[in-house]
Amino acid sequence: MEFEPVIGLEVHAQLLTRSKLFCGCNTQFGAAPNSNTCPVCLGLPGALPVLNREAVAMAVKAALALGCRINMTSIFARKNYFYPDLPKGYQISQFDRPLGEHGTVATFSGDRTETGKIVNRREKVFGITRLHLEEDAGKSVHEGMPDSDAKSYVNLNRSGTPLAEIVSEPDFRSSQEAYDYLTHLRKILLYLGVCDGNMEEGSLRCDANVSVRPKGTEKFGTKVEIKNLNSFRFLQKALDYEIARQIRSLTEGERIVQETRLWDEGRGCTLPMRSKEEAHDYRYFPEPDLPPLKLNSTWLSELTRSLPELPDAKLKRFLSVYGLTADDALLLSATVALADYFEECAKLSNNPRAAANWIMGDLTYALKNSGREIDDCPIPPGRLAELIKTVDSGEISGKIAKKVFEELYRTREEPAAVIQRLGLVQVSDEASLGTLIDRILASNPRQLAEYRSGKEKLFGYFVGQAMKETKGQANPQVLNELLQKKLKE
Ligand SMILES: [Zn+2]
Repeated sequence: MEFEPVIGLEVHAQLLTRSKLFCGCNTQFGAAPNSNTCPVCLGLPGALPVLNREAVAMAVKAALALGCRINMTSIFARKNYFYPDLPKGYQISQFDRPLGEHGTVATFSGDRTETGKIVNRREKVFGITRLHLEEDAGKSVHEGMPDSDAKSYVNLNRSGTPLAEIVSEPDFRSSQEAYDYLTHLRKILLYLGVCDGNMEEGSLRCDANVSVRPKGTEKFGTKVEIKNLNSFRFLQKALDYEIARQIRSLTEGERIVQETRLWDEGRGCTLPMRSKEEAHDYRYFPEPDLPPLKLNSTWLSELTRSLPELPDAKLKRFLSVYGLTADDALLLSATVALADYFEECAKLSNNPRAAANWIMGDLTYALKNSGREIDDCPIPPGRLAELIKTVDSGEISGKIAKKVFEELYRTREEPAAVIQRLGLVQVSDEASLGTLIDRILASNPRQLAEYRSGKEKLFGYFVGQAMKETKGQANPQVLNELLQKKLKE
């Protein structure tokens, strides 16, 4: 029997506000433990929450970008549970009436071959169940302290940080689809500037619900929740492991237990965390300290108008306007900064293909080697465009251009200055090339005689001599034509 996986993702995105969701405390990562706290986020009795308008604006933008229907009135609710890093004993979230519902995202996805290559890329549409606002909990620290063997610590700096929880429909049928969706979702959040997308620092977190069912059937199998997926690589590995594990269990006639499992990177497997035979009862009820969140329609239209061009639209524009391939367009639209750099360079050079090649090749390589990001690139797009134009006009060859590029990156000079300084201008003038060829032919009488008696391979020998003399700067086309002519004389 053939099985297919059914996967849904729950993503927590930390919103990039300067202060927390219900108090004025700083949200900066890496501050001294428990320094960014106040009575509200410490859950002290009598402290009252005040909603952060900027967090709402960011969540609304994200919901709009994910195609969600916005609820003009949404309700905050208490999600009750006990945990050491949750001093209030409840988390303020949204339950019955979230901020946004029923969205969709379209993105390119494909099939992964055994060697990890993605083939058969095509557009896929995935459903978004809901997007709601909630506050984060603090963090228990079990490792890395001098007495960690005997004690655990609690850091409440993160307590009350605004999160958008984005729940997808169970629409993914392979780990690759889940991976591509998460990549795309992260890209949307980065484009909007509402989340920094940093999975290592925990500002983007992902849990997955996985089940398998016989292919062709409708009914969902028993689902398992996987946590601790703090990188794209872990997500893919954990899903592949879990899908294989469930298929093996079912094939051997076992029953899948509904549970939460953790991805263990060291052992390369998922391990059970706690039994979820009976779903948690969080006893949600409307938060009595906050009124319903009512959006003003003028403000909503302002937010709608403020949305930037989204990744999907940009990708499609790159395909049609610049004639890029899907893979190149995906790469060049990875971030707004990279996309802007490409577009400026493509327009100024009037050669999008060359701009794409330079950016994806030499430029990416140089940035990676020097540990820089594109917005900190020593070569502005206009200067790279100049370099492309000097190649297109025949002033320098493609090979010499690579040398010039390295200098541009190192010294931040203009291409013309580098070409001048290093004397790299391509030699195209027929008079000087003609003199050079005459000299080469005169000093190689044996080779010349052999060539004339039919050993035509020697043509390359003469070209090599001329290139050596000009340090590779002879215009190959002019050189070839002149040499042909001289050899026939
Ligand atoms: Zn606070």
